[in-house]
Amino acid sequence: MAISGQSIIGNSQSNSKGAVFQAFDTARGKPIAPDFHSADRQDIERACTLAQAAFDTYRETGQEARARFLETIAQQILDIGDELILRAMAESGLPRARLEGERGRTVGQLRLFAAVLREGSWNDARIDPALPERQPLPRVDLRLRNIAIGPVAVFGASNFPLAFSVAGGDTAAALAAGCPVVVKAHPAHPGTSELVGRAVQQAVASCKLPEGVFSLLTGVGNALGIALVQNPQIQAVGFTGSRQGGLALMQAAAARPQPIPVFAEMSSINPVYLLPAALAARGEAIAGNFVDSVTMGAGQFCTNPGLVLGLAGADFERFAQLASQQLAQRSAATMLTVGIHAAYQQGVATLAAQAEVRQLGRVAAADGCQAAPALFIASAAAFLSNPVLGAEVFGPVSLLVACADEAELLQATEHLEGQLTATLQMDEGDKALARRLLPVLERKAGRILANGFPTGVEISHAMVHGGPFPATSDSRSTSVGSAAIYRFLRPVSYQNLAQDLLPEAVQDANPLAIWQRRDGQLRK
Ligand code: NAP
Repeated sequence: MAISGQSIIGNSQSNSKGAVFQAFDTARGKPIAPDFHSADRQDIERACTLAQAAFDTYRETGQEARARFLETIAQQILDIGDELILRAMAESGLPRARLEGERGRTVGQLRLFAAVLREGSWNDARIDPALPERQPLPRVDLRLRNIAIGPVAVFGASNFPLAFSVAGGDTAAALAAGCPVVVKAHPAHPGTSELVGRAVQQAVASCKLPEGVFSLLTGVGNALGIALVQNPQIQAVGFTGSRQGGLALMQAAAARPQPIPVFAEMSSINPVYLLPAALAARGEAIAGNFVDSVTMGAGQFCTNPGLVLGLAGADFERFAQLASQQLAQRSAATMLTVGIHAAYQQGVATLAAQAEVRQLGRVAAADGCQAAPALFIASAAAFLSNPVLGAEVFGPVSLLVACADEAELLQATEHLEGQLTATLQMDEGDKALARRLLPVLERKAGRILANGFPTGVEISHAMVHGGPFPATSDSRSTSVGSAAIYRFLRPVSYQNLAQDLLPEAVQDANPLAIWQRRDGQLRK
C-alpha cells in the first residue's frame, strides 16, 4: 500500500499543503520517504464535524454490529501483512519480534472489546421499578444505562507504535463505547499510523458505518494537538506521552468554554521493593531479572522500574554489586526518536551530577540514538531531600535507594508521587513489612505486584494501567484492559419513560439479554 503522507478524514484523504515532515530511521540515522503534510485547520474542523455527525448513529449501532466492526479492524490490520512490520521497524528502531508481538496485542485488544460488547455488562443497566403504593410518597420508575460520551481525540504514544497508537487501547475502548474517534498520529511513526489508519477506514466502509466514525490527523507541532482538543465537537481525550505534553492538553481541555475530561498517562518510576527475606534468599536471581526489566526495549516502557528501595546493609550492597555485574553484560540499544534519546542523555547526566548519587555501572557509550543502560545508588535521606532523584528518566536507567530502617522505607514510600505500579520482592518472612507497605502503596499506585516485574502489562478484565497523578491525570480509570471502556461512557437516567421509548438495555423484556440490576439484584 503506497503511503500518501496525508491525513485521513472520514472516507477521504486530505490534500493539505501544511508543514512538511518526514519519519526518521534512528537505527540508520536518516529520514524515511515520503513527505508527510501536516493537517491544517480545515482538516481538524472537517474530521470533528464528521465525527459529531456520525455520533448519534454510531452510538446506537447494535452491540453485535459494533463488535463485528472491531473484529473487522483487527483483520484489516493483519491483512496489511509484513509491510506494516517493516515500516514500524524503520520508524521506531524496535525489533521485528517485538513489533510482531505488539501487532498480536493490538489485534487481541480489539477482539477483547468485541467480546465485552457482546457480553453487555458495560451498559450497567439498572431498573428501579415504580412503587405507586409506597408511603408516605410513591416511588417513580427509574432506569439507568451508560451511553457513549461523544467524539474522542486520541493521541498515539511513541513507544507502542501499534498497541498504544492509531488502533491501540484508547481507540479500541472509545470505539467499543460508541464514540467516534479522531486520532492525532504520533509524528515519530507517521507511516505506520497511516497504514493502520487506512485499515480502520476500510473497516468503517465495509461495515457500512458513517464515515465520521474515524479520522486520522497527521502532523508535527503542538498547535495541531491543541486545536484538536479545543474543537467543540470533541468530548474527551486519551493521551500517552510526556508529563509536559499531558499537562498542556489538560490545560487546553480545562480552558475550553465547555471543559472536557482528559485521560493522560504520563510519568511513573515504578518502585520495586527488595524486602529483606527475599533479598537474603534470592538476591542474585532478583538482580538478573531486575536488569532484564530495566533494559528491555531500551527501557522505553511506562512501567520501567526506575527506582529500587531496600534496607541498607550487606544484602543490599551485594544486590547492588550483582545488578552492576549483570548490567555490564548488556548492550546499548536504539531509542525511538532523536528527542527521546536526547532527553535520556540529559536525564542520566543530571542524575550523575547530583552530589549524593553514586554511579554503580554504565554500559560503554554508544553511537547515534543508542541508549547506554545505567545504574545509580543513593541514600533515602538524599531521595527525600532532592526532587531530581524521584523524576522519571525515560530509558534503561534505575536508581537504588538504601533506607536506614523500615520507618525510613515507609517515609520514602509516602514521599513518592503517583505511580502506575509498585512491586514487592517478598518471601513468607516479609509479610509483616508488606502489610505495613500495602495501605500506602494502594494510595500511590494503580497496580501492586508481588515477585514479578512491572514491564509486561496483561490485557485482561482485571488489569489497571493507571494511577494517581502524575502517572495519569485521572486515577479512576485504566488505559489497558476491558475496564478502559468506562472512561468513554457516562450514565443517563430515564424517569417514568414508556417501555417503547426506553432504550433496549433497560426495557423490561430485556431484548439484549444482558445483566440488569433490578431493584438492586443482578439478573438476566
Ligand atoms: P510527547 O512529547 O508528550 O508527545 C506525545 C504526543 O503529544 C505527540 O503526538 C505530540 O505531538 C503531542 N504533544 C506533545 N506535547 C504537546 C503539547 N505541549 N501540546 C500539544 N500536543 C503535544 O511524548 P513522546 O514524544 O512520546 O516522548 C517524549 C517523552 O515522553 C519521553 O522522553 C518520556 O519521558 C515520555 N514518555 C512517557 C511515556 C509513558 O507511558 N509514561 C510513554 C512515552 C513517552 P507534537 O510534538 O507534534 O505536538
